[in-house]
Amino acid sequence: MSDCIFCRIRDGEIPSDKVYEDDLVLAFRDINPQAPVHILVIPKKHVARLADLKECDQEVAGRIQLVIGEIARQEGIAEDGFRVVVNNGVRANQTVFHLHYHVLGGRDFSWPPG
Ligand code: AMP
Repeated sequence: MSDCIFCRIRDGEIPSDKVYEDDLVLAFRDINPQAPVHILVIPKKHVARLADLKECDQEVAGRIQLVIGEIARQEGIAEDGFRVVVNNGVRANQTVFHLHYHVLGGRDFSWPPG
């Protein structure tokens, strides 16, 4: 059994509120939402951090960008605007070391981020 929580969600060992799934990508609602819409989009393959993606991951990396747009349209946040965040590494506050894209929407966001 994997000790990665997102691998366990992928494998159905931990329940999740899935919003999208294909052969390469999975998306589910964040358990501790920071906005009315807060979805995590992950590669099914275990990649710890964004900076660990390799040449051979181009297909999944590209697919994730398209899936994010699809999810935003599905959730009704595409037109108003939404934020995509990847925390890469400890200094950026990454807490789960399986690459994930936060898709946040349904409220206003400020800049710069904290
Ligand atoms: P990060 O700090 O960027 O690594 O974000 C990790 C995110 O995973 C946080 O927003 C957590 O709320 C979320 N999270 C942790 N465990 C779960 C879970 N079992 N299901 C859904 N989201 C989770």
